[in-house]
Amino acid sequence: MKRPSLAERQRRRLAGEDSRPRGRPAGSPHREYLVCDVSLSTCPACGCTDRTKYEQTQQIESSSLTTDSQLREVIVLRRCTCLKCGQHRVDRCREYRCE
Ligand SMILES: [Zn+2]
Repeated sequence: MKRPSLAERQRRRLAGEDSRPRGRPAGSPHREYLVCDVSLSTCPACGCTDRTKYEQTQQIESSSLTTDSQLREVIVLRRCTCLKCGQHRVDRCREYRCE
């Protein structure tokens, strides 16, 4: 049997047609979410973070592995344009890929 859509499940819940208990099932472990700060790229010309979609993404493989794990370092270059001032830029970031 096909699972009902999210909208249908919400409708049933609001209409009181769904008698299943809400929330995490009994006995299932609580998930711990660690907080990780992420910095957005900013336009070097005006400081705005609004940009076009990334295009012409390029990846440069790095030969180094991180010291404490088997994460492969990749330098990723993504081209975009500032939505405020129109400055073109390349967003460069390091990413770590698990193998
Ligand atoms: Zn700008």
